Amino acid sequence: MAFTTIVGAARALRDGSVTSVGLAEQVLQRTSMVEAQLHAYLTLDSDGLMEAAARADEELAAGSDRGPLHGIPIAVKDNMTTRHMETTAGSRILSGYVPPYDATAIRRLRDAGALIAGKTNLDEFAMGSSTENSAFGPTRNPWNTDRVPGGSSGGSAAAVAAGMALGGLGSDTGGSIRQPASLCGVVGAKPTYGAVSRYGLIAFASSLDQIGPIAHRVEDAALLLDAISGHDPLDSTSYPGGIEPSGARLGGGLDGVRVGVARRLGGADAVEPDVEAAFDRALAAMEGAGAVTLEVDLPSTEQGLSAYYLIAPAECSANLARFDGVRYGLRVDGATTEQMMSRSRADGFGPEVTRRVLLGTFALSAGYHEAFYGQAQKVRTLIREDFARAYRQCDVLVSPTSATTAFPLGDRTEDPLSMYVSDVFTIPSNLAGHPAISVPVGLDRHDLPIGFQVMAPALEEAVMFQVAAAVESLAGFDTTVPFDPSYGLRGGVR
Ligand code: GLN
Repeated sequence: MAFTTIVGAARALRDGSVTSVGLAEQVLQRTSMVEAQLHAYLTLDSDGLMEAAARADEELAAGSDRGPLHGIPIAVKDNMTTRHMETTAGSRILSGYVPPYDATAIRRLRDAGALIAGKTNLDEFAMGSSTENSAFGPTRNPWNTDRVPGGSSGGSAAAVAAGMALGGLGSDTGGSIRQPASLCGVVGAKPTYGAVSRYGLIAFASSLDQIGPIAHRVEDAALLLDAISGHDPLDSTSYPGGIEPSGARLGGGLDGVRVGVARRLGGADAVEPDVEAAFDRALAAMEGAGAVTLEVDLPSTEQGLSAYYLIAPAECSANLARFDGVRYGLRVDGATTEQMMSRSRADGFGPEVTRRVLLGTFALSAGYHEAFYGQAQKVRTLIREDFARAYRQCDVLVSPTSATTAFPLGDRTEDPLSMYVSDVFTIPSNLAGHPAISVPVGLDRHDLPIGFQVMAPALEEAVMFQVAAAVESLAGFDTTVPFDPSYGLRGGVR
């Protein structure tokens, strides 16, 4: 792989050492080598990619430069609508659905000159933490194919990690960008709620869902985020004001930055010793670079997971009501309309989605609404207050991204609760609506990547990326292309 980072490829495109067609060929060649083992893509659009690459080269040659993403192949999670390209959300119920329009984030990527290489695998409707809930089979971790890539954006994280695209988009409702990025040794960011339009993102839990970037480098992720963010009248929750570009303060360093250490965020216990050690090493390095650290406590986040598993299913039960066998995708006929609908949903939804719809319907039903959903909303307010209190003392908060590194396939599928706990560190930022990013900082004893999470107040992406870039360079962890076929199916060890 000659070109792995977006910034590096963009430079090479302009000094003439590579063409966009060359980048696309490189990505397709890598994909043909590893996709059979990894299954990161649900749809690979080889022809579309090559055509778009040729057009990108012509444009550049004619002097029309769309900026740093011009001619760069990107992999997109299959829960964002793509015009003329199948969009399944990892569900049987949407199998074969070809949307007539692009999601706003996709349209903006295309406008910025990026090439959509294909649609990546995910847990059905983004519900899960391992990509094992996909109706189309699991994705495997490029570092070790016996392990999960995390989820639900596991396909995008694996595709980027293995060099099957130079960057990716995921969606994050409770951690689905950051946790797979952590488990696959790449960078993943969830922006402030409202920073990126949700128009065309197939809704899971609308008050929590956000689209965000996955990439090898913090600066690459900032480029992607800046391309897709901005106000969109098609999403009523889209932030109407301007946001400082997330890459504006890269290189700003850590001198005098106040870092709150949220070691037990979400009430996390049982953090793996190697994860804890890597976290402490990164902290010490930050202090060495001038950061001022203080331990902070966010006690209400201990109820974060419980609140999330009421709010997210409640919203999902409403959002998924539209899949009724009439308007989209799968229809299983029945003697009556009701039977048709009930059969279509029973056949179309997998077990986790069914569980969430049932949980959410129950939590919203008469008599229980206040006791469950209402309580959860109150907890959400308390969590916001915890964050506000912490941010009076510090500029950013940090924690591990995930208590464990990539776990074996099948390890958490029998016990939904053990899967839910995977997101204990990531869920609080979704409940608060704040931005958060995961940066790889090292490997554990099994040579599996370890992620470090940086969180910031709403709309403070620029500070968050500044700190993340500093952590990245202090850790000196090379995220580029772990999957080397000469190691067989094991990830490459450096
Ligand atoms: N793992 C969490 C869940 O299953 C979060 C998923 C997500 O962020 N989309 O709900």
